Amino acid sequence: MKTKILVANRGEIAIRIIRAIQELKFEAVAIYETPDHESRHIRIANEAVWIGDGPRSDYLNIDRVIKAAKRVGATAIHPGYGFLAENPAFAKACEEADIIFIGPPSEVVEKLGNKVTARRIMAEAGIPMVPGTSNLPAGDAGLEEARAFARRYGYPLMLKATAGGGGRGIRRIENETELHEQYSIARAEALAAFNDDSVYIEKVVINPKHVEVQILADASGKTVHLGTRDCSIQRRNQKLVEIAPAFHLSPELAEEICQTAIKAGKAADYFNAGTVEFLLDSDNNYYFMEINTRLQVEHTVTEMITGIDIVRTQIKLALGKKLLFNQDDVKLRGHAIEMRINAEDPQNNFMPEGGKTLSIYQSPGGYGVRLDGFCYQGFTVPEVYDSLLVKLTVFGWSWNETVQRLKRCLDNFVIAGPKTTIPFYKNLVQEPDFQNGEFDTSYLDTHQQLFEYREQKSEVSKLARLIAEIHHKKQNIYAA
Ligand code: ADP
Ligand code: ADP
Ligand code: MG
Repeated sequence: MKTKILVANRGEIAIRIIRAIQELKFEAVAIYETPDHESRHIRIANEAVWIGDGPRSDYLNIDRVIKAAKRVGATAIHPGYGFLAENPAFAKACEEADIIFIGPPSEVVEKLGNKVTARRIMAEAGIPMVPGTSNLPAGDAGLEEARAFARRYGYPLMLKATAGGGGRGIRRIENETELHEQYSIARAEALAAFNDDSVYIEKVVINPKHVEVQILADASGKTVHLGTRDCSIQRRNQKLVEIAPAFHLSPELAEEICQTAIKAGKAADYFNAGTVEFLLDSDNNYYFMEINTRLQVEHTVTEMITGIDIVRTQIKLALGKKLLFNQDDVKLRGHAIEMRINAEDPQNNFMPEGGKTLSIYQSPGGYGVRLDGFCYQGFTVPEVYDSLLVKLTVFGWSWNETVQRLKRCLDNFVIAGPKTTIPFYKNLVQEPDFQNGEFDTSYLDTHQQLFEYREQKSEVSKLARLIAEIHHKKQNIYAA
């Protein structure tokens, strides 16, 4: 019987992983909740298992996912990102059910998923990081510790949920009044979102760049890096645009950051693919932020500039294969930019636009263009999941070529139905600071003009008119 791998995810990332599984000549098993019953990931998989009505709760249900895998005889599970991907209990449940979890061992997921534990491990290994506290006690004792930290390092502070992720559970505190107002709320929200009310405090790095390093490690501990990515362009601490390699880093600094990432991976006994995230200040000091123990949304940009298929490598590593290449074999060439095309209204605080049907979906193509999506014309975007429709990743040999190619692709991309981030990105690719690679995490706040555009209506209606015209001509031909 062929090896079966279950993909415990949905949307574009499920499809990305199914493709890799099938290229390895294994069978891919999809799972789905009812709102996803028309999703393309079900159709391209070799087999699909309905796991419940959800929404979300069944994709997050460890027991159901493991049972689905057992029922179809899957011997490995790829968790993708989000959902159960960084849940140590899930990794452990796989281990106990004798199913290979395609990721690091559960202990590694556990220690790195806890931001305070991760910081302690990295501090012991001598990895640079911003000053911060351990978990703060609840109530007045916690507040007092936070005040003492503020007296020493000053405001602003970053109040973070220890178990947080995906840009959630982070708040910037400007002064003592805000600290008093926010402290208990932050704990309560952390409990609701992550089932853990632990919070801690970190010094804020002012207008940093978000620079991260992709690492790969095999079971023998051999660890290589695949270079840097810049993910500074964010909204609500979540990434929108990602670039590889990070632009405007001197080769020496890039090398130093990558070597630090390898050191961080080794300090955590890392195995499989992971991402070491850093903040870089305006004086080129860099600070460890966290390690994501999973495949990253933006892995595509790294694949573009290295030629390495990260998902294929993840699967092979999990099945016990060694890394077949050395650091010297990893060559970074050119530039890649990914834009997350979300069903969201940028002009309305990126409000999700789920529940709408894609009346037109026309995607670009050509040299250096990669699309990772799951939607099609006529598809109704479920309201109950995240708003990512498709990732547009573009490669070019020079930065300028890459930016121009991206502009061309955005001009050729037509999505009608929900509002999307496309018109906002069209402004972005023409903005001089972006074109010069000058941006940090404050970029959206300081470039409000990006939000000034008129709805793409003109283009959509142009296209709709064109379609109507073609239809009309056809009828005339038949009539003739
Ligand atoms: P990445 O870090 O891979 O670039 P994001 O931070 O945007 O991407 O997270 C990827 C997806 O996973 C998003 O849909 C996000 O909401 C989800 N996600 C990330 N971390 C968590 C978490 N701890 N709990 C739930 N969802 C998460
Ligand atoms: P998550 O687990 O949600 O990805 P991170 O700790 O990686 O959270 O932080 C996400 C983003 O929040 C960063 O990319 C950065 O923009 C901002 N951020 C986090 N910590 C700090 C800090 N100490 N100073 C300034 N910005 C920060
Ligand atoms: Mg992060």
